[in-house]
Amino acid sequence: MGAPLYGLVEAGGTKFVLGVARGPDDVIATTRIPTTTPDETIAAMVDWLAGHGPLQSVGLATFGPVGVDRASPQWGHILATPKPGWSHTDLVGPLAKRLGCPVGLDTDVTAAALAEYRWGAGQGQPAVLYFTIGTGVGGGAVIGGQPLAGISHPEMGHFHLPLHPADTGFGGVCPFHGTCLEGLASGPAIKARYGASLSELPADHPGHEVIAWYLGQAVTAAQAMFEPGRIILGGGVMGTPGLLERVQAEAEQLGNGYFRGKAREIVVAPGLGDRSGLLGALALAQAAAS
Ligand code: ZN
Repeated sequence: MGAPLYGLVEAGGTKFVLGVARGPDDVIATTRIPTTTPDETIAAMVDWLAGHGPLQSVGLATFGPVGVDRASPQWGHILATPKPGWSHTDLVGPLAKRLGCPVGLDTDVTAAALAEYRWGAGQGQPAVLYFTIGTGVGGGAVIGGQPLAGISHPEMGHFHLPLHPADTGFGGVCPFHGTCLEGLASGPAIKARYGASLSELPADHPGHEVIAWYLGQAVTAAQAMFEPGRIILGGGVMGTPGLLERVQAEAEQLGNGYFRGKAREIVVAPGLGDRSGLLGALALAQAAAS
């Protein structure tokens, strides 16, 4: 008998990444399917996993907002979302019904925080935060080995922060809050202002400083609230050369030596690289099986 086989789902707004694995270094197969309508996408997800079973359990790391309270009838359902057709979609039900195994679920960012805590840059840390800065901005936390949730999962991309002095004319892109962190620093917010992604802008473009300043604010707020041992920054925007170093410098300056640990040690890239999402699903699957 080998180690049990787990099903993995990283559900995103543009694609679903699927996999089966026996452990973090033993991912046996992966595939990706485009996110189209809920019916079509969920059927393709369930079919692929069923074809790779039997599975011990499935871990589902999904875009949000999603019901994460197991006691609620909304557990495993996408909540009200601007994404057309996806509001109130049941992600977990079809999986559990067809595969007949336990399903673990959390947001993609909380799952990534869990994977980084278990196998990546957050190992051994009592509190680990993971932020993604991409099409949206989101964050998740693992405190004492457990995913953090209140009455729902955290919404760490949606707090307000001061406007950069060179950025006061921009109203932000968040449909709910305008100039929240996501409204100011997500990929679409960058494109709306500058007409290009951050990595496409010349190295001396002021946009680099503006975005690093906002992310420095976010990191410093997270330090004040959690004093995490690691704040891990992932997502497409963080692929911009030099951005991580700029954010570390901003956070160091804003923190003014008050917090424990140096920002350049606390604020880091994902240790698992682009695998933190799928391995987050593995961590959820293993938790669901135990
Ligand atoms: Zn917002």
